[in-house]
Amino acid sequence: MGKLTGFMEFKRETPTRRPVDERVHDWLEVYEDFPVEKLKTQAARCMDCAIPFCHQGCPLGNIIPDWNDLVYREQWRMAIDRLHATNNFPEFTGRLCPAPCEAACVLGINDDPVTIKQVELSIIERAFDEGWVKPQPPEKLTGKTAAVVGSGPAGLACAQQLDAAKQEVQVAQSQGNGKKANGATAKTASKPAASRRS
Ligand code: SF4
Repeated sequence: MGKLTGFMEFKRETPTRRPVDERVHDWLEVYEDFPVEKLKTQAARCMDCAIPFCHQGCPLGNIIPDWNDLVYREQWRMAIDRLHATNNFPEFTGRLCPAPCEAACVLGINDDPVTIKQVELSIIERAFDEGWVKPQPPEKLTGKTAAVVGSGPAGLACAQQLDAAKQEVQVAQSQGNGKKANGATAKTASKPAASRRS
């Protein structure tokens, strides 16, 4: 774990939201940047629970205590490797997920939960800044093609897994109202999150 007494010493702190009057005129990030030192302090609140309920809370099974500890120790490269082990697109989930991991966090029983989502987002943004996120095209393809319907985060994650399994992949987007997919696109438009991996 990060700091043994971190959860007793530090209070939860999250990034400041930009003023609403400003935000309604653009599609830029909702939150101000969060300094690294503050983030490390937040990661230090993680208790590395013997039974980490955050795991059960996360639909992806993200290995949350590990990367909280790695961020506290500034082991960013290992942190992104650990995050990518269970999460194809942390740049999406770190922005759009309602964070059931935080609702499940053991620290939340009698205090504010760990700021897991902010730690996640900061790890992937650091990885992009450092140039650690690279395309990983398969060396050869099987010659078969798989179709994925829906280009939201789940559809794209499915496509990425198929790509890793050496399948040609065609992703189709529904012409319905597609509220979730459109929302994802809009919220990540400030940093073209959807195109940074191509
Ligand atoms: S439940 Fe909360 S305090 Fe416990 S390991 Fe997970 S993030 Fe850390």
